[in-house]
Amino acid sequence: MSETTTISVRPEWQLELAKAIRSPAELGTALNLPADWVARHSTARELFPLMVTRHFVNLMQPGDPDDPLLRQVMPHADEFIDAPGFVTDPLAEQTNQQPALLHKYRSRVLVILRGGCAINCRYCFRRHFPYADHHFGRQQRSQLLDYLRSDSSINEVILSGGDPLLATDAQLASLLTDLEQLPQLKRVRIHSRLPVVLPERLTDALARRLHESPLQALLVLHANHPHEVDHKLQKALKRWAGYDITLLNQSVLLKGINDNAEVLAQLNEVLFEARVLPYYLHQLDKVKGASHFAVTDAEALQIAEQLRVLLPGFLVPRLVREVAGEPSKTPLELITD
Ligand SMILES: *Cc1c(COP(=O)(O)O)cnc(C)c1O
Ligand code: SF4
Repeated sequence: MSETTTISVRPEWQLELAKAIRSPAELGTALNLPADWVARHSTARELFPLMVTRHFVNLMQPGDPDDPLLRQVMPHADEFIDAPGFVTDPLAEQTNQQPALLHKYRSRVLVILRGGCAINCRYCFRRHFPYADHHFGRQQRSQLLDYLRSDSSINEVILSGGDPLLATDAQLASLLTDLEQLPQLKRVRIHSRLPVVLPERLTDALARRLHESPLQALLVLHANHPHEVDHKLQKALKRWAGYDITLLNQSVLLKGINDNAEVLAQLNEVLFEARVLPYYLHQLDKVKGASHFAVTDAEALQIAEQLRVLLPGFLVPRLVREVAGEPSKTPLELITD
């Protein structure tokens, strides 16, 4: 019989991920970018590697070095700028209690399920995070379950990373089976950018498994620009919505990419077409090498004000900053510098 052959077939998203572009020269050729421009900026790859899927590249405008999707992934000479206040650990998270586990907010605990991602975003604080120390294996899983049992105020587990959807459907199903044994838990939440760069990751099998769970399931996507949301992604999201999975989106406010109310309005419109509601609009974490993406608080507040005019209230994201030591994300309106 052909059983062994069917078992060894890798899912489509893994095959696509294996084809990701990692060389600035290859990206430059694919997009017809000026070779001298590519050469000038590609040295910043030594600070944080380039990685981008072909799907994401196909959404970029060829020949445009300022393309908003390209700017999120292409190494840039400005990353060598050593700006005051931009540090390697802006959230002071590298000293957390247990490996692979962050319990900063009262009712929910965040699990670093996978250290890697399917894209390397230049503005990410992950560019300096010691993920090698945060492997989530059998031992970490049993520590997580012990931790949850010891604190009944936790009712939600957030699967994050890196990107938790780099785990396979079988691995996620197995973890869910363990979490479902804990009567205190109400929800499981997945924080992922992976569907944006590999829409085929939104498999029916995983959606069905989440649908069958007694835990309520949420997917919090990370999309920053309307060009990231194409028909293929919209279709996949609508299918997941059909399985009663709550769909939300968080974005990072990025200079030259989405620091514009019209662009953000369009993003939230195309997401809502796919049943996704906005959640957070984050002020950038002040991570070393990303200062050229920073938008001032005054500008951010002005954009938020314009968004409230352009959109119905339910399509306006909450503008927040993560402040180390605070018991929740902080609305920017409440920050007085
Ligand atoms: C952002 C974050 C959460 C989730 O916060 P919500 O406001 O519930 O979305 C949880 N834990 C950590 C460590 C976080 O950074
Ligand atoms: S997908 Fe998220 S965690 Fe991964 S590099 Fe991008 S911003 Fe960072």
